[in-house]
Amino acid sequence: MQRTVRAWSRMPLPRGPALMVLGYHRIAERDDGLTVRPSTFAAHIGWLAAHRAEPPVVDVENAAAGAEEWPWRGVALTIDDAWADVYENGLEVLSRAAIPVTLYVPSELLGTAEYMTHAQVRECAAAGISIGGHSRSHADLRRCDDASLERELRGCREDLEDLLGAPVTGFAYPFGHVDGRVRDAVASAGYTTAITTRRGWARPGRDPLCVPRSFVADVGLSTFRATVRGGLNVLRAADALRVNTG
Ligand SMILES: [Zn+2]
Repeated sequence: MQRTVRAWSRMPLPRGPALMVLGYHRIAERDDGLTVRPSTFAAHIGWLAAHRAEPPVVDVENAAAGAEEWPWRGVALTIDDAWADVYENGLEVLSRAAIPVTLYVPSELLGTAEYMTHAQVRECAAAGISIGGHSRSHADLRRCDDASLERELRGCREDLEDLLGAPVTGFAYPFGHVDGRVRDAVASAGYTTAITTRRGWARPGRDPLCVPRSFVADVGLSTFRATVRGGLNVLRAADALRVNTG
């Protein structure tokens, strides 16, 4: 908790256009650092949908690749790993909100325990969700030799393009692990944007293959709004107290 508050307090507020890229993993009635409850997710997305002009919600790939003008203070939504509970508990909320969101998919894990099936990923795409790569097996790419790196990166892109019948150009580093070699291999494999897990504002003109992102915990709306604005977040403590006291 203390570390979190200090991390927020160090995040400098940007001058000029900037994007707060938000990340989620799982949506379920569980209590761990990777999961938000369905009611929490619905509240976050509902708030963004209701306030879509301020802050504007934009497609992270379009922005990072320079395909659209950057908002002054925008938000982009991302979800990693294609867990089945995201399909079960999140798809309807996202469809109703009709705001841009990107789902990063480890292609070889589809259809295995707790992950979405291939058909469910296709359904997400049909509902308007952008699909990006997340390697084939969710490997720590820094530890892959050149051949397996190519297989994890290009292979994932080709798997997903075959599945969707559409180009896949976005990527998220598994575990957020990236070094210079991995970054260059992601570019060589045909991706034009890649998302990290380093907190901070995404800014125009920065490396589109090292886009910062902040993961969202199971927090109330006041903390969520502070997260979106990227400022010091002392409200997180208040939210935690509220949860602890029921
Ligand atoms: Zn992941």
